[in-house]
Amino acid sequence: MSGPVNSTDVDMVAARASSPSGVSDMLESRTAIVGSLPVRRALPQRARRTVGAWCFFDHGGPLEAATGVGGIGPHPHIGLQTVTWMIAGELVHRDSLGTEQTIRPGQLNLMTAGAGIVHAEEHTSAGRIELVQLWIAQPSATREGPGEFEHHAELPELDLGGGTATVLVGSLANVVSLARRDTDHVGVELVVRSQLVVPADRAYEHVVVPMDAPIEVDGRLVEPGRLMYVGPGREELPVRALEPARVILLGGVPFEEPILMWWNYVARTHEEITAAHEDWTQRRDRFKIPPSQLAPIDVAPPLWAPHA
Ligand code: MN
Repeated sequence: MSGPVNSTDVDMVAARASSPSGVSDMLESRTAIVGSLPVRRALPQRARRTVGAWCFFDHGGPLEAATGVGGIGPHPHIGLQTVTWMIAGELVHRDSLGTEQTIRPGQLNLMTAGAGIVHAEEHTSAGRIELVQLWIAQPSATREGPGEFEHHAELPELDLGGGTATVLVGSLANVVSLARRDTDHVGVELVVRSQLVVPADRAYEHVVVPMDAPIEVDGRLVEPGRLMYVGPGREELPVRALEPARVILLGGVPFEEPILMWWNYVARTHEEITAAHEDWTQRRDRFKIPPSQLAPIDVAPPLWAPHA
């Protein structure tokens, strides 16, 4: 999926305020449209740019898709990993590495952009579609490296008594996902039936986001579309649901590198983004366009870019 384009998103230098141990706050997603899909965007927020290295969180749909090809046409990324987790429906992923991969519910796509990659995500059949798409900022050690794509058809699960955890990325109570990880972080889907306690890493900050039903975290009500941030220092997070709830839990060691996000790029400087966007606009080598029935996506250059 394609990222922020609004002018309000232009200047996104992460201002990382260190959070006192265990401190929590409640934030609200905003709505946006990506391609033809309505999304609730939980990250980034003015008050909370990153959680660990997680820097973008869209909950797309649910949408009853009409017949015909929809989705999002070829577009570029740098400096991030995209994590796509299907809840309902199918997408076909194609990228500049030559990958073509169908993703179905319960499966994970993890694409590493490095210095540059292009992908398209098409839905080719009618019916319900719902997904989560997340971005992870790459650290300096890998962000200028090669692109990579992984598909995980099965992911490890953990029975937590009052519900089940599926480990998308990272590990939870020694249950480990095989998905690539460049920083110390975790991504989990919880299906909460009654109440459970999620084991947590004291070094991690977390965010808890219910998808479809309200939950309580630490006894505080969290409605769908809201996100509850919990600072580092916790060994467990109690979660309770009055009806079965699908919940995304993200965590990680606070990401200390100040990042700059614009459109589909995560970088460190304006110059890097200007150069990447010019390469995309000029269709240069680092951004090869994969075959797609959808048109490539172009947007005007960033406002800070010098005019020719
Ligand atoms: Mn994308």
